[in-house]
Amino acid sequence: MEMRAKDALVVVDVQSDFLPGGAIAVRGGRQIVPRLNAVIEAFAKDSRAVFFTRDWHPPDHVSFEGNGGMWPRHCVRDTPGAEFDSELRIPETATVISKGTEPRLEAYSAFSGTGLEKVLSDSGVARVILGGLATEYCVKETAVDALRFGFAVVVLKDCVMGVEHERGDSERALEEIISRGGRLITSVDFLSETAS
Ligand SMILES: [Zn+2]
Repeated sequence: MEMRAKDALVVVDVQSDFLPGGAIAVRGGRQIVPRLNAVIEAFAKDSRAVFFTRDWHPPDHVSFEGNGGMWPRHCVRDTPGAEFDSELRIPETATVISKGTEPRLEAYSAFSGTGLEKVLSDSGVARVILGGLATEYCVKETAVDALRFGFAVVVLKDCVMGVEHERGDSERALEEIISRGGRLITSVDFLSETAS
């Protein structure tokens, strides 16, 4: 119970532009939504902290092709592509973290320019539970930052999915998270491990 109270769930970038039909579609990305919903439900049920991150870019963001970046235009703030997936369960008590809001700054990590580290520390969070999109970019960078800030990190391995520009990118990202001290577990095992 003590450990559970110190957990925060961080759901990374489950937005239309990262799902099939979107600007940077992660193939099979929708498969993770019902699994994430089960974990979100469990956290919401006993008032554990839940955060949803979103790419929330200005129209001229530096990460876009044409502005020096490597990505097609995506997740422009207040456009349909930036919306959370309509199937994603978002409890009223959840906190939304917008990132990549500055025109000149890229922000893969949920900690990048968002103040999340302080929010988590101030609320006594010791362990960050992670799922979302995409494994080798925003999920990985969020995990690496969380570990760097001294949080324990658990990645729900069936609740993440990668872009896979190069085959194996997701696998390598997960291996890197493990090598830095993170842990991988399925959402089912996590839920049974932390069941009340
Ligand atoms: Zn972006």
